[in-house]
Amino acid sequence: MKSYFDDEIVNDILKAVDLAKNIVIITHSNPDGDAIGSVTAFEGYLSSKGKESIIVVPNQYPDYLSFLDKGKKIHIDEENPGKTKLYMDRADLIVALDFNQLKRVDDLEIHVRDSKAVKILIDHHPGPESEAFNFVVSTTEVSSTCELLYWLIKKMDHGSKSAMPYIVAKSLYVGMMTDTNNFSNSVHSSTFRMAYDLLEAGVDKETLQLKVFGGFSEERMRLMGHALLNKMIILKEYGAGFIILTKEELDQFGYCEGDTEGFVNMPLNIKGITISALFSEKEDHIRVSLRSSDDFSVNKFSKKYFNGAGHERAAGGKLYILVGEVPQYFEKSLKAMFDKQKRAQDL
Ligand code: 5GP
Ligand code: MN
Repeated sequence: MKSYFDDEIVNDILKAVDLAKNIVIITHSNPDGDAIGSVTAFEGYLSSKGKESIIVVPNQYPDYLSFLDKGKKIHIDEENPGKTKLYMDRADLIVALDFNQLKRVDDLEIHVRDSKAVKILIDHHPGPESEAFNFVVSTTEVSSTCELLYWLIKKMDHGSKSAMPYIVAKSLYVGMMTDTNNFSNSVHSSTFRMAYDLLEAGVDKETLQLKVFGGFSEERMRLMGHALLNKMIILKEYGAGFIILTKEELDQFGYCEGDTEGFVNMPLNIKGITISALFSEKEDHIRVSLRSSDDFSVNKFSKKYFNGAGHERAAGGKLYILVGEVPQYFEKSLKAMFDKQKRAQDL
């Protein structure tokens, strides 16, 4: 089994947890399955060790993940920033999960930067902002933060005979399952090993699968149909496909947070299409989701043209242009990226 961390950092983390009296666990804005899975898993793990902690997330998570937050313990900063300040001022340990740069936590960023607390980052994105943390556990060689956390918890619990609490196992499984898009992307041999262990430990995969992938609203399914039938545009010369959803369309289909989850993967099912984008118009910006199924780096693409970042094959960002300008902007960006790649090859 590959080791993602040495004994020293595991001991440092154990010591920091042991000394802490007020622990706050945070994750990135627009939290997805890996974000919510990792924060609820870590909270559950600490709780099983008799350590209370508070989870703070920048904004609301999608409804299909609410079963991981049964006790409604997750504090949403956007809904009550005053309470966030209280929690963050009091914190003597901040555990940051599933993001690499502090700008990914919106208004929490300033609290984290100002805080005197010990800060730990556990994440699987490239390029962690290490200088902002005391301890960093980071590798891109895992499927998800939940997988990394699984291996870390195993190491932290070394020697312990007691089984992982069910809430922890369930959350970790969900985060891994959603970040791999149900075992289709970024799956490593260690991911199957983790899945094996969790299933052996009693995780009910059918129920979790049904909760996550079988709990969609009728409106979401119809929005998906509309997106595929009427909105998907294919740019054959770049092997790219994209979908733009305007605010008006999202309203028409009663859009709720998380309803477009997975749409960005759909053009990749077409033969010859290896780059895909989803643009969703929001109040003051356009949210961008990017995917690739070959060595085209959407992380670099997003950094250069979409004010974002992510992984090599899955990234996101934001655009501040009119929704009508998106098709031309996307094509122009693709052309520039391909020209740049070609120049690099020619050299
Ligand atoms: P998604 O398309 O699912 O929203 O995001 C895909 C990946 O890109 C995720 O790993 C996410 O953390 C990252 N990502 C999404 N949006 C942003 C963004 O605005 N900035 C950065 N740096 N990363 C993002
Ligand atoms: Mn993740």
